[in-house]
Amino acid sequence: MRKNIVAGNWKMNKNLQEGVALAAELKEKVSNPNCDVIIGTPFIHLATVAELLKDSPIAVAAENCADHTSGAYTGEVSAEMVASTGATYCIIGHSERRTYYGETYEILREKVQLALANNLRPIFCIGEVKEEREANRQNEVVKAQLEGSVFNLSAEEFGKLVIAYEPVWAIGTGLTATPEQAQEIHAYIRSLIAEKYGNEVADNTSILYGGSCNAKNAVGLFANPDIDGGLIGGASLKADDFCAIISAF
Ligand code: PEP
Repeated sequence: MRKNIVAGNWKMNKNLQEGVALAAELKEKVSNPNCDVIIGTPFIHLATVAELLKDSPIAVAAENCADHTSGAYTGEVSAEMVASTGATYCIIGHSERRTYYGETYEILREKVQLALANNLRPIFCIGEVKEEREANRQNEVVKAQLEGSVFNLSAEEFGKLVIAYEPVWAIGTGLTATPEQAQEIHAYIRSLIAEKYGNEVADNTSILYGGSCNAKNAVGLFANPDIDGGLIGGASLKADDFCAIISAF
């Protein structure tokens, strides 16, 4: 059966020393979690943090990877480079990357494939913006995002993905989808996966909620049958806040 997961996304926060200190604090505080725990860090932290956490229950994710294998792409970091640090996951398709860096369905399709080819498990993010929710178009938006970037995968490949539903209007805004809103769309996402890959793959896929998730609202969100944990931005930057969310399981 699918795993419950709490994953952090540090975004562009923490210099190397601060990031290593946070990872060390988490290592000390997260000893026997009732769920899988992942921290997504900037590229510069990956090797040090992965080494620090190698005998701990905490896995490490990159927040992005390049859409090319290698070569003349100044400033880019390939999936192979990410994997060589000891990271085992890669966040792909975060709404900030889609919005600020023009990441299209096609670019994300390449990234997902390169991550998988390098044994990284993609945490693939989908979700609608405020206007789309107001127009009740959230289902069609997440369907197009899945069809555009990951429904080309084989069932075996898709089975390695973690899906994160993140309504863009809830990210970093303090607004959270209600547990009912989140459960409804998570169930819809699972039904799309079942339609495409069958019930077994759908039942085994972890679907995380992201968007102003904190220790207070995590319990209500995670109690729902189709919400298998959270992708946590702001509240992953302090060990105690992040640990309190892990304790929601
Ligand atoms: C995110 O960036 O993935 C996120 C969910 O951020 P926040 O928790 O700060 O809303």
